[in-house]
Formats: sequence, structure tokens, C-alpha cells
Amino acid sequence: MTATADEFDLGGLRLSVGEGRRTELGVRIGSLVLGGERYTAEPERVPVKLEVSRMTGSGYALRLLFQATLEGSCMRCLKRASPKVEVEAREVDRPGGGEELQSPYVNGEKLDLAAWAHDAFALAAPVKVLCREDCAGLCPVCAADLNDLDPARPEHHHEPALDPRWAKLRELKLE
Ligand SMILES: [Zn+2]
Ligand SMILES: [Zn+2]
Repeated sequence: MTATADEFDLGGLRLSVGEGRRTELGVRIGSLVLGGERYTAEPERVPVKLEVSRMTGSGYALRLLFQATLEGSCMRCLKRASPKVEVEAREVDRPGGGEELQSPYVNGEKLDLAAWAHDAFALAAPVKVLCREDCAGLCPVCAADLNDLDPARPEHHHEPALDPRWAKLRELKLE
């Protein structure tokens, strides 16, 4: 069984300088908001691979790899969408010394794995979450689901219906 770790103790690996280790863990990524909609990462405990290398001098180089499903509604047709998201993220934490680099996820020897995995997942998530790549979406006039149209009659359009009051206004503008 994979151990669960939302916070990971880097010091606990007892790595000597230049040594690296790969660990498999389960991390809770939780939910995120994209385009005003809430999405969740599935499964609840996402299995991740964490690679930790202890650098010469001080500090750690970290690499995080995982795949999770983004669950929520399609941004075009509002039906369920569950695209898979591949994540590969790197962090370096080298406190003190000449080239000072501080990872926001590392505090001393403690890695906030849940926060890092959450942010990396949000960055890797698609800008447009769709139920499928070629989702046709909803008709902007009548909100019919354009994915459900009769394949024999795939065209769907509306006569441009002009409100007579607007037509009058148009005439005025032209004068
Ligand atoms: Zn869709
Ligand atoms: Zn329509």
C-alpha cells in the first residue's frame, strides 16, 4: 500500500550529499476553481512519484510526477467532463549560500507536498475543460445541446429575428 503524506519529511530520507531517492505516495489534491467553476482531482488520494536529491552544499532538488483526472462540467455543454491531466513539476530549495533559492513549498526539511501537488495540478490543467475535444457546445440562441443533433439533419440555426423596435432605431441611426 502507498503511504499517505500531505506533508513530507525530507530529512527523514537521511540522504547523503549527491544521493537521490524516489518515493511513491498518496496525496490529497482537493478541488480547484477554473473559469469560475469548481473542479475536483480524482482519485481523492492521488498516487504520486516524488524524487528527492540532496544537492552539494545544502538543499534539495525535487521532482514530482503524477496523473490525475479533473472532474467537473464541460465549459461548452455543461455535461460531465473528466480529462486526464499529466503533471511533471520541479522545485529547488537551496537556502543560504551564494545562489539562494527558496521553494515556497519547503520549510526547513518539511515539504508541503499537498500544496505543491495542488498548484502543479492547477497549472497543468487545460484552459478549456471539455467533455471531449470536439464538443459542439450549446446553441447560443436556444441552448440546445449541439452534440445531440440528429445526424441526418446536422444543421441547426435560427432565422435572425429582429425586434421591430430595434429595426426602427436602426432607421433613425442611418439618417
Ligand atoms: Zn461538452
Ligand atoms: Zn438553437
